[in-house]
Amino acid sequence: MDAPLPADKPQHPYARAGTVHQWLPFTPNRDFQRQPRVVVQASGMHFTTSNGRSVLDGVSSLWCVNAGHRCAPINAAIRDQLEMLDYSTAFSMTNDRAVQAAGMIAALAPDDLNKVLFCNSGSEAADTSLKLALAYHRARGEGHRCVFIGRERGYHGVNFGGMSVGGIPGNRKAYGAAMLPRVDHMRFIHDPAHAFIQGELPQWREDPLLDLEQRILPLHDPSNVAAIIVEPVAGSAGWYVPPQGYLQRLREICDKHGILLIFDEVITGFGRLGTAFAAQYFGVTPDMLNFAKGVTNGTIPMGGVVCSDRIYDTLMQVDQPAHAIEFFHGYTYSGHPVASAAAVATLQHYVEADLFARAARMAPVLGDAMHSQLRNLPHVTGIRTLGMAGAVELQGIAGSPGKRAYEIFLRCYENGVLVRNAGDVLVFAPAFIAEETHIAQMVDTLGEAIRALA
Ligand code: PMP
Repeated sequence: MDAPLPADKPQHPYARAGTVHQWLPFTPNRDFQRQPRVVVQASGMHFTTSNGRSVLDGVSSLWCVNAGHRCAPINAAIRDQLEMLDYSTAFSMTNDRAVQAAGMIAALAPDDLNKVLFCNSGSEAADTSLKLALAYHRARGEGHRCVFIGRERGYHGVNFGGMSVGGIPGNRKAYGAAMLPRVDHMRFIHDPAHAFIQGELPQWREDPLLDLEQRILPLHDPSNVAAIIVEPVAGSAGWYVPPQGYLQRLREICDKHGILLIFDEVITGFGRLGTAFAAQYFGVTPDMLNFAKGVTNGTIPMGGVVCSDRIYDTLMQVDQPAHAIEFFHGYTYSGHPVASAAAVATLQHYVEADLFARAARMAPVLGDAMHSQLRNLPHVTGIRTLGMAGAVELQGIAGSPGKRAYEIFLRCYENGVLVRNAGDVLVFAPAFIAEETHIAQMVDTLGEAIRALA
């Protein structure tokens, strides 16, 4: 039974019989019923709530709205597209906007990452990339390669493939053993000696990839491994930054053993680190790159996988067309014309407004504010800032882990700032249009909430 809304609150406009009927994902729903948070409008850096309050969006909503809310050229393109072509079909034909969007994404992606398979979310991108890896190896006569390796605390969405290679046990515990069968997880990237990271990669005391080389790969035999998938910076876990040289070494290990490397850039893609993708920031090119979120500035659901010419050509068997493997995979809405129009306008706007460079310019402002104002607060045991995002880690506050950060999230929201809570970590990832005043307000509000809870 849903808990009734408190009598002293006015009847909520979206509630019938005193309850809210929407079941929110990844949310303590019982609590939400008592205290529903509904927004009705947004503009630039701010939401307006259903009771008329303004809330500063400190996390680009969910790492999506990189250009800020209700960005005029994107909205106009969506409206125009609806008047032109509302839907076509995803199979055996396409629409001009999807072709254009794919071309623009390929142009932003590094090296030979030139072919784009569209889907509708980051979760679908994860499963698409894993299936592509299997098909690629099969096309090369290596169908035995079906082991996947993810990383502890990695997040690759909620579908079965992404959940299996993901490394957050809490996301799996309700589903028992029904996961992909041959999956292992590398060690997480965290060295407590580097709890405070400000805009640069730490130099670790020990090599975190030794475990992969010495334990995981021998256990499965590297010749059975299809792909390794990682987020270049671990986003959902709480913005954990890899040590220097980590992704380069991972690339070398994959190359040595014929393993495909997949970067999940659903969060890091489209400018979060000041470059189009994290691949360019770290100078490492994967075989596949998953994207979503920022590709349409959050306006219309869209995701996808950019894969290398090598993968595409192998599946097409350009030299032996008789052996071509058609990749029978796709979604009704793959390359949807309205989503594609949103993507084209978004990518154009990112480039014309030079927003990735702006993210790079504002990143130190966010980093300085978080480190200078939050570092010495009670219970703050770590702060990690890199690019236009930063995380604050808390320990030692009474109460169950996760709940405390949730309480801080609630207090910040009440005080007019949206922050993201993940376990005992609070994360900021504002839109790239954020001004210093926005950043100051975000950090002040979070600092007050941490002090109040302590
Ligand atoms: N991969 C990563 C790295 C993500 O951060 C997310 C979402 N936060 C996903 C995949 C899943 O994306 P979606 O929620 O669009 O399915």
